Amino acid sequence: MRNLSALRPEILGISVERLSQLSNASWTSGADFKRAFYRAALTSQVGLCAYCMNQVGEEFRNRPDIEHFADKSKYGQWTFEILNLSLACKYCNQTRKGKYDVVVTLARNYGQCSFALIHPYLDDVEKHLKGGYPALQTKPTIPQPLTLKGARTIRLFKLDSIFALSIWTRVYDDLEAKRNMDESERLQYEKAKDELGGY
Ligand SMILES: [Zn+2]
Repeated sequence: MRNLSALRPEILGISVERLSQLSNASWTSGADFKRAFYRAALTSQVGLCAYCMNQVGEEFRNRPDIEHFADKSKYGQWTFEILNLSLACKYCNQTRKGKYDVVVTLARNYGQCSFALIHPYLDDVEKHLKGGYPALQTKPTIPQPLTLKGARTIRLFKLDSIFALSIWTRVYDDLEAKRNMDESERLQYEKAKDELGGY
């Protein structure tokens, strides 16, 4: 898990009026919002699940869910709260997290609530976990908890499994290989990709 930057409404291309219309709406009525969020978040999360950092998206035949940190069936007021949303793989969202109630202290303002798990936008992951895969250019290791929140997050998403480490190592090696390509190789690679087009 690593810190993510929250998406601003202007990046989504959703107007303030539309957002306020959605503030009391049900999840099924926000198809335009969901499409825009999905597209923008896939880019900003560089195609990685917010929790286990597995590769997601059509390219990997692994379509992620738009995950509600605070469950929308219990906290309907945050169904379209951007800070409450991220993309997560189906394993993290459905199998592991399910309806787990993350809210410890409820406040009117989302940012003033306290949560039981590490929040992908509001917490600093490195304050709660030692190691893991906190930044894309950091070599991944098995994470150790530094706080109770860290321990809960590791346990819930099984972040200390060998499988999680193997996912991060693959992502890290892939990025490292791209970084190590010198400029001419990179240009050749880009050219080859262009020539192949949609094939
Ligand atoms: Zn995941």
